[in-house]
Amino acid sequence: MIERTLGIIKPDAVRAGNSGKIIDIIEKSGLEIVAMKKISLSKDQAEVFYEVHKDKPFYDSLTKFMSDGKVVPMVIQGDDAIKRYRQIMGATDSSKAEKGTIRNLCGTDIEHNAVHGSDAPETAKDELGFFFCGYELI
Ligand code: ADP
Ligand code: MG
Repeated sequence: MIERTLGIIKPDAVRAGNSGKIIDIIEKSGLEIVAMKKISLSKDQAEVFYEVHKDKPFYDSLTKFMSDGKVVPMVIQGDDAIKRYRQIMGATDSSKAEKGTIRNLCGTDIEHNAVHGSDAPETAKDELGFFFCGYELI
């Protein structure tokens, strides 16, 4: 089934000049980037985006990290895109991510892990709507 998922190139990867490399990995995997932008999140905006983690000990640090530099949100489309993009991202902890995955190649640790990807159809829909408005999602 053709799906859409939200990907984000996080500030660590943008700062390190890894945006192009990450886009290349996504495109070579057969997934299509149908919309993309480069923006800054405020701390408040990052807190809303990661609200699901508000009770976790890393919430403040994560939302500081995500608002400290530019991010590149992307609408990624393809057959089974949610699961396939999570696979090419690799495990959350970059130091444990499978060889050749984006997080293995471009991330540093469990927090600074280069990319975000939605984890299910409902979260993908919400997260796409957070970053992209109606006409951008056509
Ligand atoms: P994923 O991004 O793989 O879906 P989570 O949804 O569990 O992972 O966490 C969201 C983000 O919070 C992670 O991508 C990472 O940047 C950060 N994070 C997760 N767990 C930790 C942790 N134990 N310590 C610090 N940061 C974390
Ligand atoms: Mg998650």
